[in-house]
Amino acid sequence: MHAGSGGNAQRTSLEDIVAAVAGVYERLDRQRSIWDVWLHFNHHLGSLAIEVGRDALSETVLHEFADAAMWLLTFVWKASQEPAAGAEAEPESLVRLSATLSDILWRAFPGVCPACHFRSETAIEGAPPCTCAPSKPRYFDSEVWFAHSEELVMRADSGEDMPGSADAWQEFFETLFKDRLELRGLAGLVDDALAQAAQVGDAMIRMYTYVGLEAGHPAGRQRRLEFELAFLVADVLLALSAISQSSALDGLTGARGNAHGLVEALQSRYFDAASGTWICHKCRLPACACRVQIVPSTLAANDVRDQWNARS
Ligand SMILES: [Zn+2]
Ligand SMILES: [Zn+2]
Repeated sequence: MHAGSGGNAQRTSLEDIVAAVAGVYERLDRQRSIWDVWLHFNHHLGSLAIEVGRDALSETVLHEFADAAMWLLTFVWKASQEPAAGAEAEPESLVRLSATLSDILWRAFPGVCPACHFRSETAIEGAPPCTCAPSKPRYFDSEVWFAHSEELVMRADSGEDMPGSADAWQEFFETLFKDRLELRGLAGLVDDALAQAAQVGDAMIRMYTYVGLEAGHPAGRQRRLEFELAFLVADVLLALSAISQSSALDGLTGARGNAHGLVEALQSRYFDAASGTWICHKCRLPACACRVQIVPSTLAANDVRDQWNARS
């Protein structure tokens, strides 16, 4: 299966990876706002789109994928923490997740694609391939989804075969979205992830922006944020599958072998095999010591501007 330089890669859970990434960057991530982390992710996802759009793919595709995935998992970590006292603005403290990433994924995809599952007349069991149009996998409108969201959660809570590792999740999505993986291809899947990231962004905004409050909200908004995030993670894992299946990347030394699973993809950039520890790819230390200055929220923006103006 997926040979990993860190050992046990096949059994590493998504929560393990979230914790590993946080272990390297926690000092800085605690100073960052959730928007900061989210924008870093968007930047690297966009950079990945640029790289996969080039005529000749290079190893930069793998680097950008690793960076995008790292920031996405940092977002998951950040949105799972208690808001830091005083350091975060009020609206930000509303953008939080209520469950682990695995549970969030399973509640959105409890063994089925929720879109075709609710379209079909007969109950589907097991993990059938999704029958949504591959080029238009953006599921269904929010009202239909909301009407079925309780059912999804109930189905998730009653099922027992939730994938137990990051690799198992990737294989689950490869099976479920077999057609999309084949027909959309790498560039199409990265496009899908970009479009889906915009949906997550909207769901984040809706956590603190209201025009009246619909029945069932704000709990429904929490569920929508987690639902959109689940689709984004699925898109990102499918893009990784497309990367590892890409014959255009075969010529790169070790690229294919290193890229197949999420653990390998991240470890190709954020891991020191000699010491067996996750590290920062810049300073090469297990607890990043890079000199990054993040303007603290206690400093007035005008003061920062004045300081910069004084320097130039
Ligand atoms: Zn479907
Ligand atoms: Zn560092």
